[in-house]
Amino acid sequence: MYDFITDSFNIDKKMIKKIEVFSSKDLTEFHISLVPEKLRCPYCHGITHLHGFSKPKVINHPKLTDRKCIIVFKNNRFQCNECLRTFSGKNPFTFSNFKNSFLSMNNIMKSLSNLNYTYSMVAELNHISVTQVQRYFDSFVNIPRIRLPESIGIDEIHSKMAKRADSAYLCVMVDNKNRSLFEILPSRSKAELKRYFDRIPSEERNCVHYVTIDMC
Ligand SMILES: [Zn+2]
Repeated sequence: MYDFITDSFNIDKKMIKKIEVFSSKDLTEFHISLVPEKLRCPYCHGITHLHGFSKPKVINHPKLTDRKCIIVFKNNRFQCNECLRTFSGKNPFTFSNFKNSFLSMNNIMKSLSNLNYTYSMVAELNHISVTQVQRYFDSFVNIPRIRLPESIGIDEIHSKMAKRADSAYLCVMVDNKNRSLFEILPSRSKAELKRYFDRIPSEERNCVHYVTIDMC
């Protein structure tokens, strides 16, 4: 069934704690905070509790009307009951160092696949700079593999970029400690994951101590 929240933000509406919409002449802002999840500490795997909020993050999002659209995301912060370290909750809208939401990236990649479009046309269509378009294009054609981190988080995102006929999900791997993205696979299937990890030398795999998986 069509659901506005799921369709527009790629998350289940049950995850939303509060959503407020502010509209001005040329901008629509969605201020979103999420229901706190039960997260284990990425450092020592201890139990954690909610510990305030991160500074709101502004994320470019595809426009719904003729106005530019942004998500202002107020992420939860957690503290570990055991080692007392603090860390941010998951960001379902984009990767930690990205300014564009997954849906924006999806649109950018779609425009880039049209060979009749120039970089500046793609930039204008998606409200981003030409430099950003070029950066996306470069990382799309050549992504050097990053060494496996000590604590890996494996997640999935629903995306039209998923290439396999058997799956509409991309598999996303993050470094749980610094919450940065290190790999995207075209499918979340067991065979794809096996193929990926089989190619990595065992000495490197043995350095991984924790793997968290949040897939159904
Ligand atoms: Zn801890």
